[in-house]
Amino acid sequence: MTLSAFPPRIRARVQREVPLAQFTTWRIGGPAEYLVHAASLRDVADTVAACKTANLPLYVLGGGSNLLIDDAGVRGVVLSLHAMKKMQAFGNKVHVEAGASLGTLVTRCNHAGIGGPHGLAGIPGTVGGALAMNAGGRHAEIADFVERVVWINPQGELESLYREEIDFGYRRSGLRFGVVIEAVLAGRHAAPAELLAATREIMREKLAVQPYQEFSAGCCFQNPMGSSAGRLIDLAGCKGLAVGDAVVSPMHGNFIVNAGRASCAEVLELMRQVTQRVAQTHGVVLKPEVQMWPARDVLSLAA
Ligand SMILES: Cc1cc2nc3c(=O)[nH]c(=O)nc-3n(C[C@H](O)[C@H](O)[C@H](O)COP(=O)(O)OP(=O)(O)OC[C@H]3O[C@@H](n4cnc5c(N)ncnc54)[C@H](O)[C@@H]3O)c2cc1C
Repeated sequence: MTLSAFPPRIRARVQREVPLAQFTTWRIGGPAEYLVHAASLRDVADTVAACKTANLPLYVLGGGSNLLIDDAGVRGVVLSLHAMKKMQAFGNKVHVEAGASLGTLVTRCNHAGIGGPHGLAGIPGTVGGALAMNAGGRHAEIADFVERVVWINPQGELESLYREEIDFGYRRSGLRFGVVIEAVLAGRHAAPAELLAATREIMREKLAVQPYQEFSAGCCFQNPMGSSAGRLIDLAGCKGLAVGDAVVSPMHGNFIVNAGRASCAEVLELMRQVTQRVAQTHGVVLKPEVQMWPARDVLSLAA
């Protein structure tokens, strides 16, 4: 494929062979063959159409806070929606574009007296990424607040979906297979002071147990039903285990941190060792929570 596959009006928004490590919280990842910085729905639609025509893989980049990108990078097109970050609160609702940061959304809701989304405090990344992953934790998950989502579905059509039409599950949603453009989220009326205090408390809890200042992608593995992956990893003696600069955080077993110049290969090898040890110790095969570009056979980690 050449640049000519993109409609002339967005060619200025397309870059070639851009290292992706800078866009991930792990600071890991080789180059994107093409990186498109979309500034409007039309840019997104044109990019999706160009990929379909040229039969190229399309990857959607949010805040890169749940991504493990191969050292060789990805062939095809990476689409960034970072410039699409408008947000407007009205009543107990907020209308937000996918590229907006989740942290900014929480702050805006708090100030507008919209309660609920404060339960997502401390989760990095964008609103689009949070919807694709159904981000959340013990206080809330984003699906709790979804009223409507506008996306380009896997068939390349623009579609508006109500909450009931979206397949949300534990740290996953069907939205991952298309491009989320914007959403309307709804919370409950609450006093801003109450929300700010609750947000501070959640942040205090997280900072006490998670290595927030280090390069990571948050929890590497999903919690198995009724159990905690971090606890199983800890009990299997994996805290502090390292492959090169990839280290299982001594603070939280489910965080693998990049302590310097870790590569994707090192993180994958460490994930494999952790998976194997947990399987041997507890008979449980952990599943990765982080998304891998290009996609990998997750079961091979346990081999
Ligand atoms: C320190 C730390 C703490 C974390 N804590 C939590 C936590 O408490 N709970 C939690 O759930 N997660 C947590 N995470 C993981 C991560 O922040 C979330 O999964 C987040 O929602 C990912 O959003 P993102 O924008 O960074 O997505 P990315 O990492 O960029 O992408 C993740 C997936 O979403 C897709 N995607 C991104 N944007 C769109 C879009 N517009 N349309 C369609 N698909 C899209 C990508 O293609 C990819 O498949 C943590 C991460 C870190 C580094």
